[in-house]
Amino acid sequence: MKETMCGIVKALNGPGGLVYRTDLPVPQIGDDEVLIKIHCTAICGTDLHIMEWDDWSQKRIKAPVTLGHETAGDIVAVGSAVKDRKVGDRVSCESHIPCGTCYFCQHDMPHICKNVELFGCTQNGAYAEYAKIRADCTFLLDDSISYEAACMFEPMGAGIHGVEAAHVEGKVVLVSGCGPIGLTAISGCKTFGATKVIACDLIDEKLEIAREMGADEVFNSGKCDLVAEVKKLTGGAGADAAIDITGAAAAINTDLKCLRAAGRMVCVGLPTKPVTLVDMADDLIYREIELTGVSGRKIWETWEDFAKVMKSPYYKMDRVIGGRFPMKEFQTAIDQIQSGVPGKMILYP
Ligand SMILES: [Zn+2]
Ligand SMILES: [Zn+2]
Repeated sequence: MKETMCGIVKALNGPGGLVYRTDLPVPQIGDDEVLIKIHCTAICGTDLHIMEWDDWSQKRIKAPVTLGHETAGDIVAVGSAVKDRKVGDRVSCESHIPCGTCYFCQHDMPHICKNVELFGCTQNGAYAEYAKIRADCTFLLDDSISYEAACMFEPMGAGIHGVEAAHVEGKVVLVSGCGPIGLTAISGCKTFGATKVIACDLIDEKLEIAREMGADEVFNSGKCDLVAEVKKLTGGAGADAAIDITGAAAAINTDLKCLRAAGRMVCVGLPTKPVTLVDMADDLIYREIELTGVSGRKIWETWEDFAKVMKSPYYKMDRVIGGRFPMKEFQTAIDQIQSGVPGKMILYP
């Protein structure tokens, strides 16, 4: 086994670039950990926020740290207490490392653990040749799931979690926002038996892809009266459920109006500013709309559901991936993200 490896490090506390190094120590595993030889890791918006040193990073990140958390690879070593993982297993990683002892961990909600550690943020991650993680935070991949597809469990899982929370089977579902997470939600709705999926976005090209990934009806909400269109498609009743991926106040308010009474609204997208519910009396209270949010992925329900979606005819991996780069060319990948190239960028060590 080699002693040093390459990787991408946030070297200093404060704003500034990431550094590619070839002299990082290969991690030493503890009793409950596994060592993974990384095949590839996708770039997350969070990594860019850490680079820019936003408020969240200032609170959570202590440099130096190896970033990267949307990953897949092969287990090459297991700790002495690890029972259900072995050398040679192909795995992806849950980035939320729960404490196991707080109220939420004890009540089957480890995904919202209040003491959560974050792989590739609060501890070293997967922009590297090797990464270590607690064995119970790895997800076994069957041979039908490529390493690249496996990198999507973590970032796109929120979309599938949204589908789970919307109870889509037999329902008409509206999905607002057709970026990679919205597209994943759309194929998830179809995989899990939604009778009709209506997708909306402000960009026509995204709507074309939404159709390829399972949307039955697509609307540019900037160019039509979405509420009227949804009513027309549902005999005047409205959609049974809506999943918002945008986090935008306008979309959330429109989605509420598109729902039938007693419909269910699931918020996935994170707002970047305060959201006002314009007509809470009519849009929510009088019509008994259920409004909820989802955070991250349920461990491991969302992963198992997403594996089914990946194997469905609706999920189109090539529509979700934006580019592939050797890890040392990470800056080119970041430049492409920042210039608006769509899709996830994947790095290979
Ligand atoms: Zn991420
Ligand atoms: Zn916990």
